[in-house]
Amino acid sequence: ILIVDGDEGCALLSPAADQLAAYEAKREACLEKRRMLEKFRGKPTLDGDGRVFKLYANIGSAEDAAAAAAASAEGIGLFRTEFLFMDRAALPTEEEQYAVYKEVADSMAGREVIIRTLDVGGDKDIPYLGLEKEDNPFLGHRAIRFCLDRPDIFKVQLRALLRAGASHGNIRIMLPLITGLDEVRAAKELLAQCKAELDTEGIAYDKDISVGIMVETAAASVLSDVLAPEVDFFSIGTNDLIQYTLEVDRGNAKVGKLYTPYHPAVLRSIRRIIESAKAVGIPVGMCGEAAADPLMIPLLLAFGLDEFSVSPAAVLATRARIASWTRADAVRTAAEAMQLSTAADIEAYLRTACGEK
Ligand code: PEP
Ligand code: MG
Repeated sequence: ILIVDGDEGCALLSPAADQLAAYEAKREACLEKRRMLEKFRGKPTLDGDGRVFKLYANIGSAEDAAAAAAASAEGIGLFRTEFLFMDRAALPTEEEQYAVYKEVADSMAGREVIIRTLDVGGDKDIPYLGLEKEDNPFLGHRAIRFCLDRPDIFKVQLRALLRAGASHGNIRIMLPLITGLDEVRAAKELLAQCKAELDTEGIAYDKDISVGIMVETAAASVLSDVLAPEVDFFSIGTNDLIQYTLEVDRGNAKVGKLYTPYHPAVLRSIRRIIESAKAVGIPVGMCGEAAADPLMIPLLLAFGLDEFSVSPAAVLATRARIASWTRADAVRTAAEAMQLSTAADIEAYLRTACGEK
């Protein structure tokens, strides 16, 4: 018998009788919790006062979109397109990409689909691109940096996205790893070129497609007030924002203890990003793992996050947790937490505050 505990991230081979019994009870409790969550399926996402939030899903393929819809996600907050480029021998063509983006747009008609442009590099290698080995790949030639240096590859994706947005107008383009305005402007310039080419070729596309950015670098956070007026939306990528704020490699178990969203520097960063978006009236979401973290929810509600994007499996639980907070409770909890100075104190405080829910 092998027990796999996905909550704790551990496995137990040939458990003793008492371990088996404990896990059977844990499994039953987990199933019961899932049954309780069923009442949130297909419902809008409301906090305890009835304020409406958007609850979207993160996906990596067109098939995942079906899982997201089945999980009653209200849209797609992050489509990681790099998976389309992986596990194959050559770049996907414009037609191949168009077909995938269109399939997701069709299956989510009437709902937003935020598609992130190629986020290659870092921990994601694509062998046929012949990327050079780098000493610090997370600080290297990845994501928007790679795309701006390879307009031949980037423009194919932009054209496919523009075209796929034509039928329902529900596709949004999201740029990863932005550190400054020059990158946003350069990407928009390439988008404008793609539009002009499609016009000349008489091919239909979404002329008003929205362009937003992942806010996931320390630079983008500090500059969020400068970036906000030039983009249509923000989505906070906490997976990277934590590593770039705390200087902790997100994939290195040796420093795993230091990788935490509860660090006051990360929380202040998130608050600032949301404030910058609010100041110019653009929507702000979060598509990093922290969006599904029960301890983070009161803070995100209090800061004014508009949209939570989580894995399909976390949709119902996140909707239930949002429902358990009134605005006043969330604001009070966030105010207390933001008074504290260390990640450990903040986490301990939030565990108590959220444990009462
Ligand atoms: C993030 O950085 O938070 C994010 C959502 O993107 P990824 O995990 O793909 O880097
Ligand atoms: Mg990221």
